[in-house]
Amino acid sequence: MMRVVGVIGAGAAGLCAARHALASTGLSPVVWEKSSQVGGTWVYTPHTGKDQDGLPIHSSMYQSLKTNLPKEVMGFPDFPFSSDKEESFIHHSDVLKYLKSYTDNFNLNQYIKFRHHVELVTPVVTDEKTTWQVTVQDLDTKTSSTTVCDALLICNGHYSVPRMPQVEDIERYKGKQVHSHDYREPSPYKGLTVVVLGAAASGLDISLELATVAKEVLLSHNFPLPIPSELPPNMRQVQGVVSALDEGFVFADGSSAQADVIMYCTGYEFTFPFLTDDCGVTIENNIVKPLYKHVINTTHPSMGFIGIPFQVCPFPTFDFQVRFFLKMLGEVTLPSKQNMDEITERNLNEQCSAGMAVRHFHRLGSQQWQYNDDLANLSGLPYLPRAIMNLYEAVRYFLGTLTGIVTLESQNEMVAATQFELECRRSLGYSDKKFHQLGFVRQEQYLADLAKNMHAAQIPQHILTNFKVVVFRAIFSIMKFKQYSYSNDGNTLIETLHGKRINTKFDLGSVILRRVAYLFWHDFARVCTATFSFLQFSLKKIFTK
Ligand code: FAD
Repeated sequence: MMRVVGVIGAGAAGLCAARHALASTGLSPVVWEKSSQVGGTWVYTPHTGKDQDGLPIHSSMYQSLKTNLPKEVMGFPDFPFSSDKEESFIHHSDVLKYLKSYTDNFNLNQYIKFRHHVELVTPVVTDEKTTWQVTVQDLDTKTSSTTVCDALLICNGHYSVPRMPQVEDIERYKGKQVHSHDYREPSPYKGLTVVVLGAAASGLDISLELATVAKEVLLSHNFPLPIPSELPPNMRQVQGVVSALDEGFVFADGSSAQADVIMYCTGYEFTFPFLTDDCGVTIENNIVKPLYKHVINTTHPSMGFIGIPFQVCPFPTFDFQVRFFLKMLGEVTLPSKQNMDEITERNLNEQCSAGMAVRHFHRLGSQQWQYNDDLANLSGLPYLPRAIMNLYEAVRYFLGTLTGIVTLESQNEMVAATQFELECRRSLGYSDKKFHQLGFVRQEQYLADLAKNMHAAQIPQHILTNFKVVVFRAIFSIMKFKQYSYSNDGNTLIETLHGKRINTKFDLGSVILRRVAYLFWHDFARVCTATFSFLQFSLKKIFTK
């Protein structure tokens, strides 16, 4: 008899769930999607606030957004992005097109109930198993119905409910407060002074766009070094906001500035408003509990969550999570609840002792590859191609070690990354003293050794070259970053800007030299202090081992 796998949401995660449930023997998916189309986050709307049904607008997409990962690493492993377009960082509408063609390719539409809002999920527990009662409202007829599912995958998306930071005295502030969830385009900010709080992907992108119309943009962040890119003349970097004034803000170094608007680019909360308490799921300190491998509800293992880890390549991770969950429904036996919870607890403790903040438990970063491999091993699946890992890691590696800029909590991130690298190099026989002497040649050797160590194929030369260039573009010329495109002709990298081929090495060299000179000239004291603390910190780590 067919077992029903319920899926909440038809964004990338829900589509992937439906695609693999269909491909599994004895399983049949039913997907509920509250909107009228697939794509979730990637469905742009100019509206903010509530939609026509009185529900909060789901998508946080802004009009001009281009992806912050090259399309070459973004796709599902079994369905790459089309190479019709030369550009690597594609417009959000192209990602939506991709998800629609994924839907068509795997014939998923017939399994999706559009304009059906999941309101309540209740477990039905017997001695043998837990099934799920899912109560759904048809938004057109306003009638509710209940379906019983053998298994349930929660794919409701985690970039919709804004996380607001605690800013001391914020109630005094008379200006406008906006979260990036409600940012669409820059015209409402014409002639205004805007503080953008947070300099991760959205913060950087939105700041640059605001600077085209605003009087001034203050990009506020706690990175150890200023971002070395050339910025528009009306944009400057300030330290993190600590408190509010009537008409402005005070920053971490004690300086202050007036501002008409604060734009919070401070991330999103996990929420599952439809789960009843009986489901046994809680959110504590940004950790969704009790999940095994960030997927399986250990109290009722027939419930899984797709897309909880962040700072990952999302679509490939969804693919592993879904296939892992489906295998666990029958083909492979899970450990006992006690075992699974102990493994998770141990994992959390290990990461905390490596310097990670508890609230970042689901932030995988470099650990995502091990994580994907674990899921593959547990469910007998093939590994993700190593080239994808190496491309992504090259980006993080350069960003983290060259500039110290990884995320707002870059120090913890760097401790974990440094420790990981140190151990890899030791295992390959390198002396600790030469740990920091990488350079381009050693970097290539390093990645090649990593691949060898993992019994993976050597990384093609052109991919390494390509990504060095991409990363340098990212940190030294964020204003133009997403306008460059890359392709390879055999082993030769072809880099184009607005369709014109450019001289990569010469051009990059001159950009970097100009930026380094500029940085030292304008920010000498801060650069020296940060570099010194970074060196001191790294040396301490090496010699206290
Ligand atoms: P979503 O896409 O959010 O889909 C969830 C779906 O569930 C929605 O369709 C929603 O309507 C539905 N739903 C929710 N609740 C219910 C309910 N109760 N009943 C019925 N349906 C419900 N990733 C990248 O790989 N590259 C990028 O460049 C990139 N850029 C991004 C930029 C922005 C501004 C944002 C916000 C995210 C970006 N991401 C990027 C991450 C992106 O969110 C993920 O790649 C991915 O699309 C998330 O898919 P999802 O299915 O988990 O969630």
